[in-house]
Amino acid sequence: MSIVCFPFKEEDVSVVVRNVECAASHPRIAAVLCVGYSQGETWHAIENAKPRIEKASGKVVILLLQKRIGVALRGGKGDGMNTALSYFLEHTQYPRLHFYDADIVSFSEKWISKAEIQADLDYDVIRHHFPRSSTDAMITWFVTKLGFAMLWPNTVLPSIEQPLGGELLVTRRAAEVLLADPRVCSQSDWGIDTLYTFVIAQTGLRMAEVYIPEGKVHALYGGLRDLRTMLVECFSAIQSLKNEVVGSDAGGYCIEFAKAVPELVQQKVGYDIEKSLKLLRSHWTPRQQELLHQHFDSALVKGLLNARDWPCWGFADEEAWTGAYLKFLDHFEKGDDDWEELLFKVWVARVLNHTLRHVIRGYDVALGSLRDFVWETRQRFGMEL
Ligand code: GDP
Repeated sequence: MSIVCFPFKEEDVSVVVRNVECAASHPRIAAVLCVGYSQGETWHAIENAKPRIEKASGKVVILLLQKRIGVALRGGKGDGMNTALSYFLEHTQYPRLHFYDADIVSFSEKWISKAEIQADLDYDVIRHHFPRSSTDAMITWFVTKLGFAMLWPNTVLPSIEQPLGGELLVTRRAAEVLLADPRVCSQSDWGIDTLYTFVIAQTGLRMAEVYIPEGKVHALYGGLRDLRTMLVECFSAIQSLKNEVVGSDAGGYCIEFAKAVPELVQQKVGYDIEKSLKLLRSHWTPRQQELLHQHFDSALVKGLLNARDWPCWGFADEEAWTGAYLKFLDHFEKGDDDWEELLFKVWVARVLNHTLRHVIRGYDVALGSLRDFVWETRQRFGMEL
């Protein structure tokens, strides 16, 4: 029987405890492993609920503080997930390990069953994918999927529907491959999902994506500023891999078809637009202007500098973002606040451009624009190889 891991920081404790309970009660699950960032309120809530859940389910609930596995980068979700991988490798009674974000309100036993059934078909990795709002997943689309399309256009990587999803199952074989990879162990921050996905593809593990039609309901963001650290760490993870080679013959990949997207998901706006409009006007420094002039196309420079005075986004179209992305791949320096702020500002402009050019024309047009962008980028960069 398998083990489920919930990495957690501070979340709504009733949601987390309910999810632990739900996982423990599943007939295919023998243990639930909760890996915490610290011993805060969420930790104590799980600790208090543990005896009751263990008694009711007859399963084990393990609480573990995350270890410092990577040393060079910020200790974050990567250390949490790698701590779970290492626990799993030491406890050989469980053949499979599931990961789920702890804050998923719509989590149910179906998530576990779907992954287990697909794993029975001899896949090494099962990922979950779900319907997303057209303003959600803006790092996934513009950083990860686009980066994959530019750097490895003829591989499985840009086809993976939700490459940053924290919901996945790994078999023992996949866990061994992942934890033996020094790039994975050192990725202690938000870049961990990128590294797992990349290494799974590069090493040719067999992968399937299963579909959860009701979607992932979880804690929402305010303005895009909440995503700045995640953006920087996810971009930097791609940048660290840019010279890697990936073969086009993946180990095997299949994806379950998506269904009609629920109205609620279609209508959801994923971030606060008004708050985000102000981001292009703030935190400017003279050096950011210098860097812009030194490295970027004049149209982008002009557009971004205009946005200091008045919100504008027309300049940040697909073409401009692709051009800027290539410059960031060459010159971006993580830890340098001006570079990080520039990446953030250009990305904010791209997200606003997508929202106010495509999203206002309806859900299907918006999703279509994102899919076309990735597909056309694959074709363009595939031709240039
Ligand atoms: P998002 O879904 O990508 O917006 O990311 P969330 O902020 O919801 O985080 C996903 C999951 O990882 C949640 O269960 C968080 O509590 C958990 N998490 C976030 N950061 C850390 C961390 O540094 N360590 C651990 N152990 N868990 C984390």
